[in-house]
Amino acid sequence: MSEQSVRPQRLLEVKGLKKHYTRKQGLFSRQHTVIKAVDGLDFYVKEGETLGIVGESGCGKSTTGQLILQLLEPTAGEIWFQNQNLTAMNEEEVRRVRRELQIIFQDPYSSLNPRLKVKDIIAEPLRVHRLSTGAETERLVAELLEVVGLGAQHLNKYPHEFSGGQRQRLGIARALAMKPKLIVCDEPVSALDVSVQSQILNLLKKLQQEYQLTYIFIAHGLGSVKYISERIAVMYLGKIVELATRDELFASPRHPYTQALLSAVPIADPRRKKERIILQGDLPNPADLPVGCSFHPRCPLASERCRREAPQFEQVRDGHGVACHYPLNS
Ligand code: SF4
Repeated sequence: MSEQSVRPQRLLEVKGLKKHYTRKQGLFSRQHTVIKAVDGLDFYVKEGETLGIVGESGCGKSTTGQLILQLLEPTAGEIWFQNQNLTAMNEEEVRRVRRELQIIFQDPYSSLNPRLKVKDIIAEPLRVHRLSTGAETERLVAELLEVVGLGAQHLNKYPHEFSGGQRQRLGIARALAMKPKLIVCDEPVSALDVSVQSQILNLLKKLQQEYQLTYIFIAHGLGSVKYISERIAVMYLGKIVELATRDELFASPRHPYTQALLSAVPIADPRRKKERIILQGDLPNPADLPVGCSFHPRCPLASERCRREAPQFEQVRDGHGVACHYPLNS
């Protein structure tokens, strides 16, 4: 078999994806402001891999996840899943495909109905999509609880009887119920204690191998993303500013923003010291983006050109792209 034929396929491909919102400038104003939550994303995810998406709150990473799951309608662009253009599908076609696209939320508690028992929460999508009935559903739910490390003795409990980590396991079980191909993990460990975070990350990794799952793993810091992702996209104000394999991104970050994010990742070796890069200023107002490179007000390398001209996303090496006029040589 040739190398070409065993290379993993692209399960998902996103082309020129945009989500813009318009907002009135004032109650009586006729002027509108455009907020570019997501502004021209191009990326793919191969079958069985994990693509990490990282960036500060408000960078558009969760909006990207919601667009992929068809929970939001894009302003422009295409989303291809298993060689089908989701953005060109009718409602019925989207409903059918959506089963294979699931999400795990940051706060599972708010997505678990507090009045339902666990067996009903996990069975709900199975019933809605008529995938099983009666005793078969109960057997499947018990099996899913075992798979996520909880066990069938929890079937009759309510969400408030579980710890944060256990609730996240319930969220994972519910996502798995639909036998998805792609799961968007939207900050699934950010709200958990550090010790529990690694348990959930290990569970996600184990499930990925067992069920050939593909993940988009969204986080605001690079710590958990490093552990679970094969490739990482760094987002800033609606755009991808750098995308590379995990190893390459950590060894040779080329964008000043990536460097700043990396400097915040703790290192295990106490003998090694690294200097934390503190970015100046806050994230600019998305309704009033800076001209030129949108990172320039916070960038230590900003030049006159950066204040005038937005950089294009370009490949600096095979599989390593960056949007910066002066990519770093690290
Ligand atoms: S283009 Fe200029 S301002 Fe933007 S990241 Fe690169 S050096 Fe900094």
